[in-house]
Amino acid sequence: MPKNTKYFSIVFIVSVFYAPFVIAANENGGVREIGDSVYSFTLGEGNHSMFVIGEDSVAVFETFHSGHSQKLLQAVRGVTDKSIKYAFISHNHWDHASGGQVFSNAGAQTVMHERAAQWLEAHPGRDTALPDVTWTGDRKDIDLGDFTVSLHYLGINHGLGLTIFTIPERRAAYIADLVTPNRVMFSVVPDFNIGEWERSLGEILEMDFDVAVCSHNELPMEQAMGGCNQDDVEDERQFIRDLRHAILAEFEKGTGFMEIPKAVTLPQYSHWVGYDEWLEMNTLRLMTDLWMGPFPWIPHAGKVADSAEE
Ligand SMILES: [Zn+2]
Repeated sequence: MPKNTKYFSIVFIVSVFYAPFVIAANENGGVREIGDSVYSFTLGEGNHSMFVIGEDSVAVFETFHSGHSQKLLQAVRGVTDKSIKYAFISHNHWDHASGGQVFSNAGAQTVMHERAAQWLEAHPGRDTALPDVTWTGDRKDIDLGDFTVSLHYLGINHGLGLTIFTIPERRAAYIADLVTPNRVMFSVVPDFNIGEWERSLGEILEMDFDVAVCSHNELPMEQAMGGCNQDDVEDERQFIRDLRHAILAEFEKGTGFMEIPKAVTLPQYSHWVGYDEWLEMNTLRLMTDLWMGPFPWIPHAGKVADSAEE
């Protein structure tokens, strides 16, 4: 076997896997200030990071992978030479939790929830590194002088240890994977507990912020660079509810199980990215959840149990 066949296979698999994210790609990515020294950053390939600049230091949100992180680091350096104190990583999945070493090497501490770190220790990716700092439970505040990063673990909604970050002084937030403006659910809805996801969105709606960066955003790039907001959180929750209602209506009608994915339509979302390609997959996944019961799940998965452990 030629030496580079394995490399080619990996590149091929990764390319295929990432292909859906490239739907909105264009050359217009970059950096934009979306709040009070709050910046969004994207390379235009579907991944959006955020950074916040304070009097003395900088906090970065979501490293994605080394290529992204190197450009993100350059982008921060294009705006400020203050030290980057923390690089926050939202959850365990390789497509978000890779690239952290770039910021460790730049003198920052990478931070993720202990559950995400445990998974990464058991399932290292080719570009992942264990975090410099972990945290446990469901709430923590990290003080950076003139601003605070509030960490919120809302339960087992997606992946492990998924953390929503808010910066109260700047009225900003970072939301990974739970809210993707202008797109149906991602393909086969991997590693989402859909009921917990819906409940978590309700908790995010209670949070007080004006602007957020959503890790994936399928609005036109000009809008996506401006971030997302509570209207997008509400839209995401409504989509879940509308899809569930449509499925239950087919259950009521007695439509055959395997006929339902083709029978369900939600024309009010037909302009959303992925509608034609993924609505059937979304439907089958949510049907499975309604039929079998919610998954994935682990003991002490929720907020209350987590707090009680401490
Ligand atoms: Zn994920």
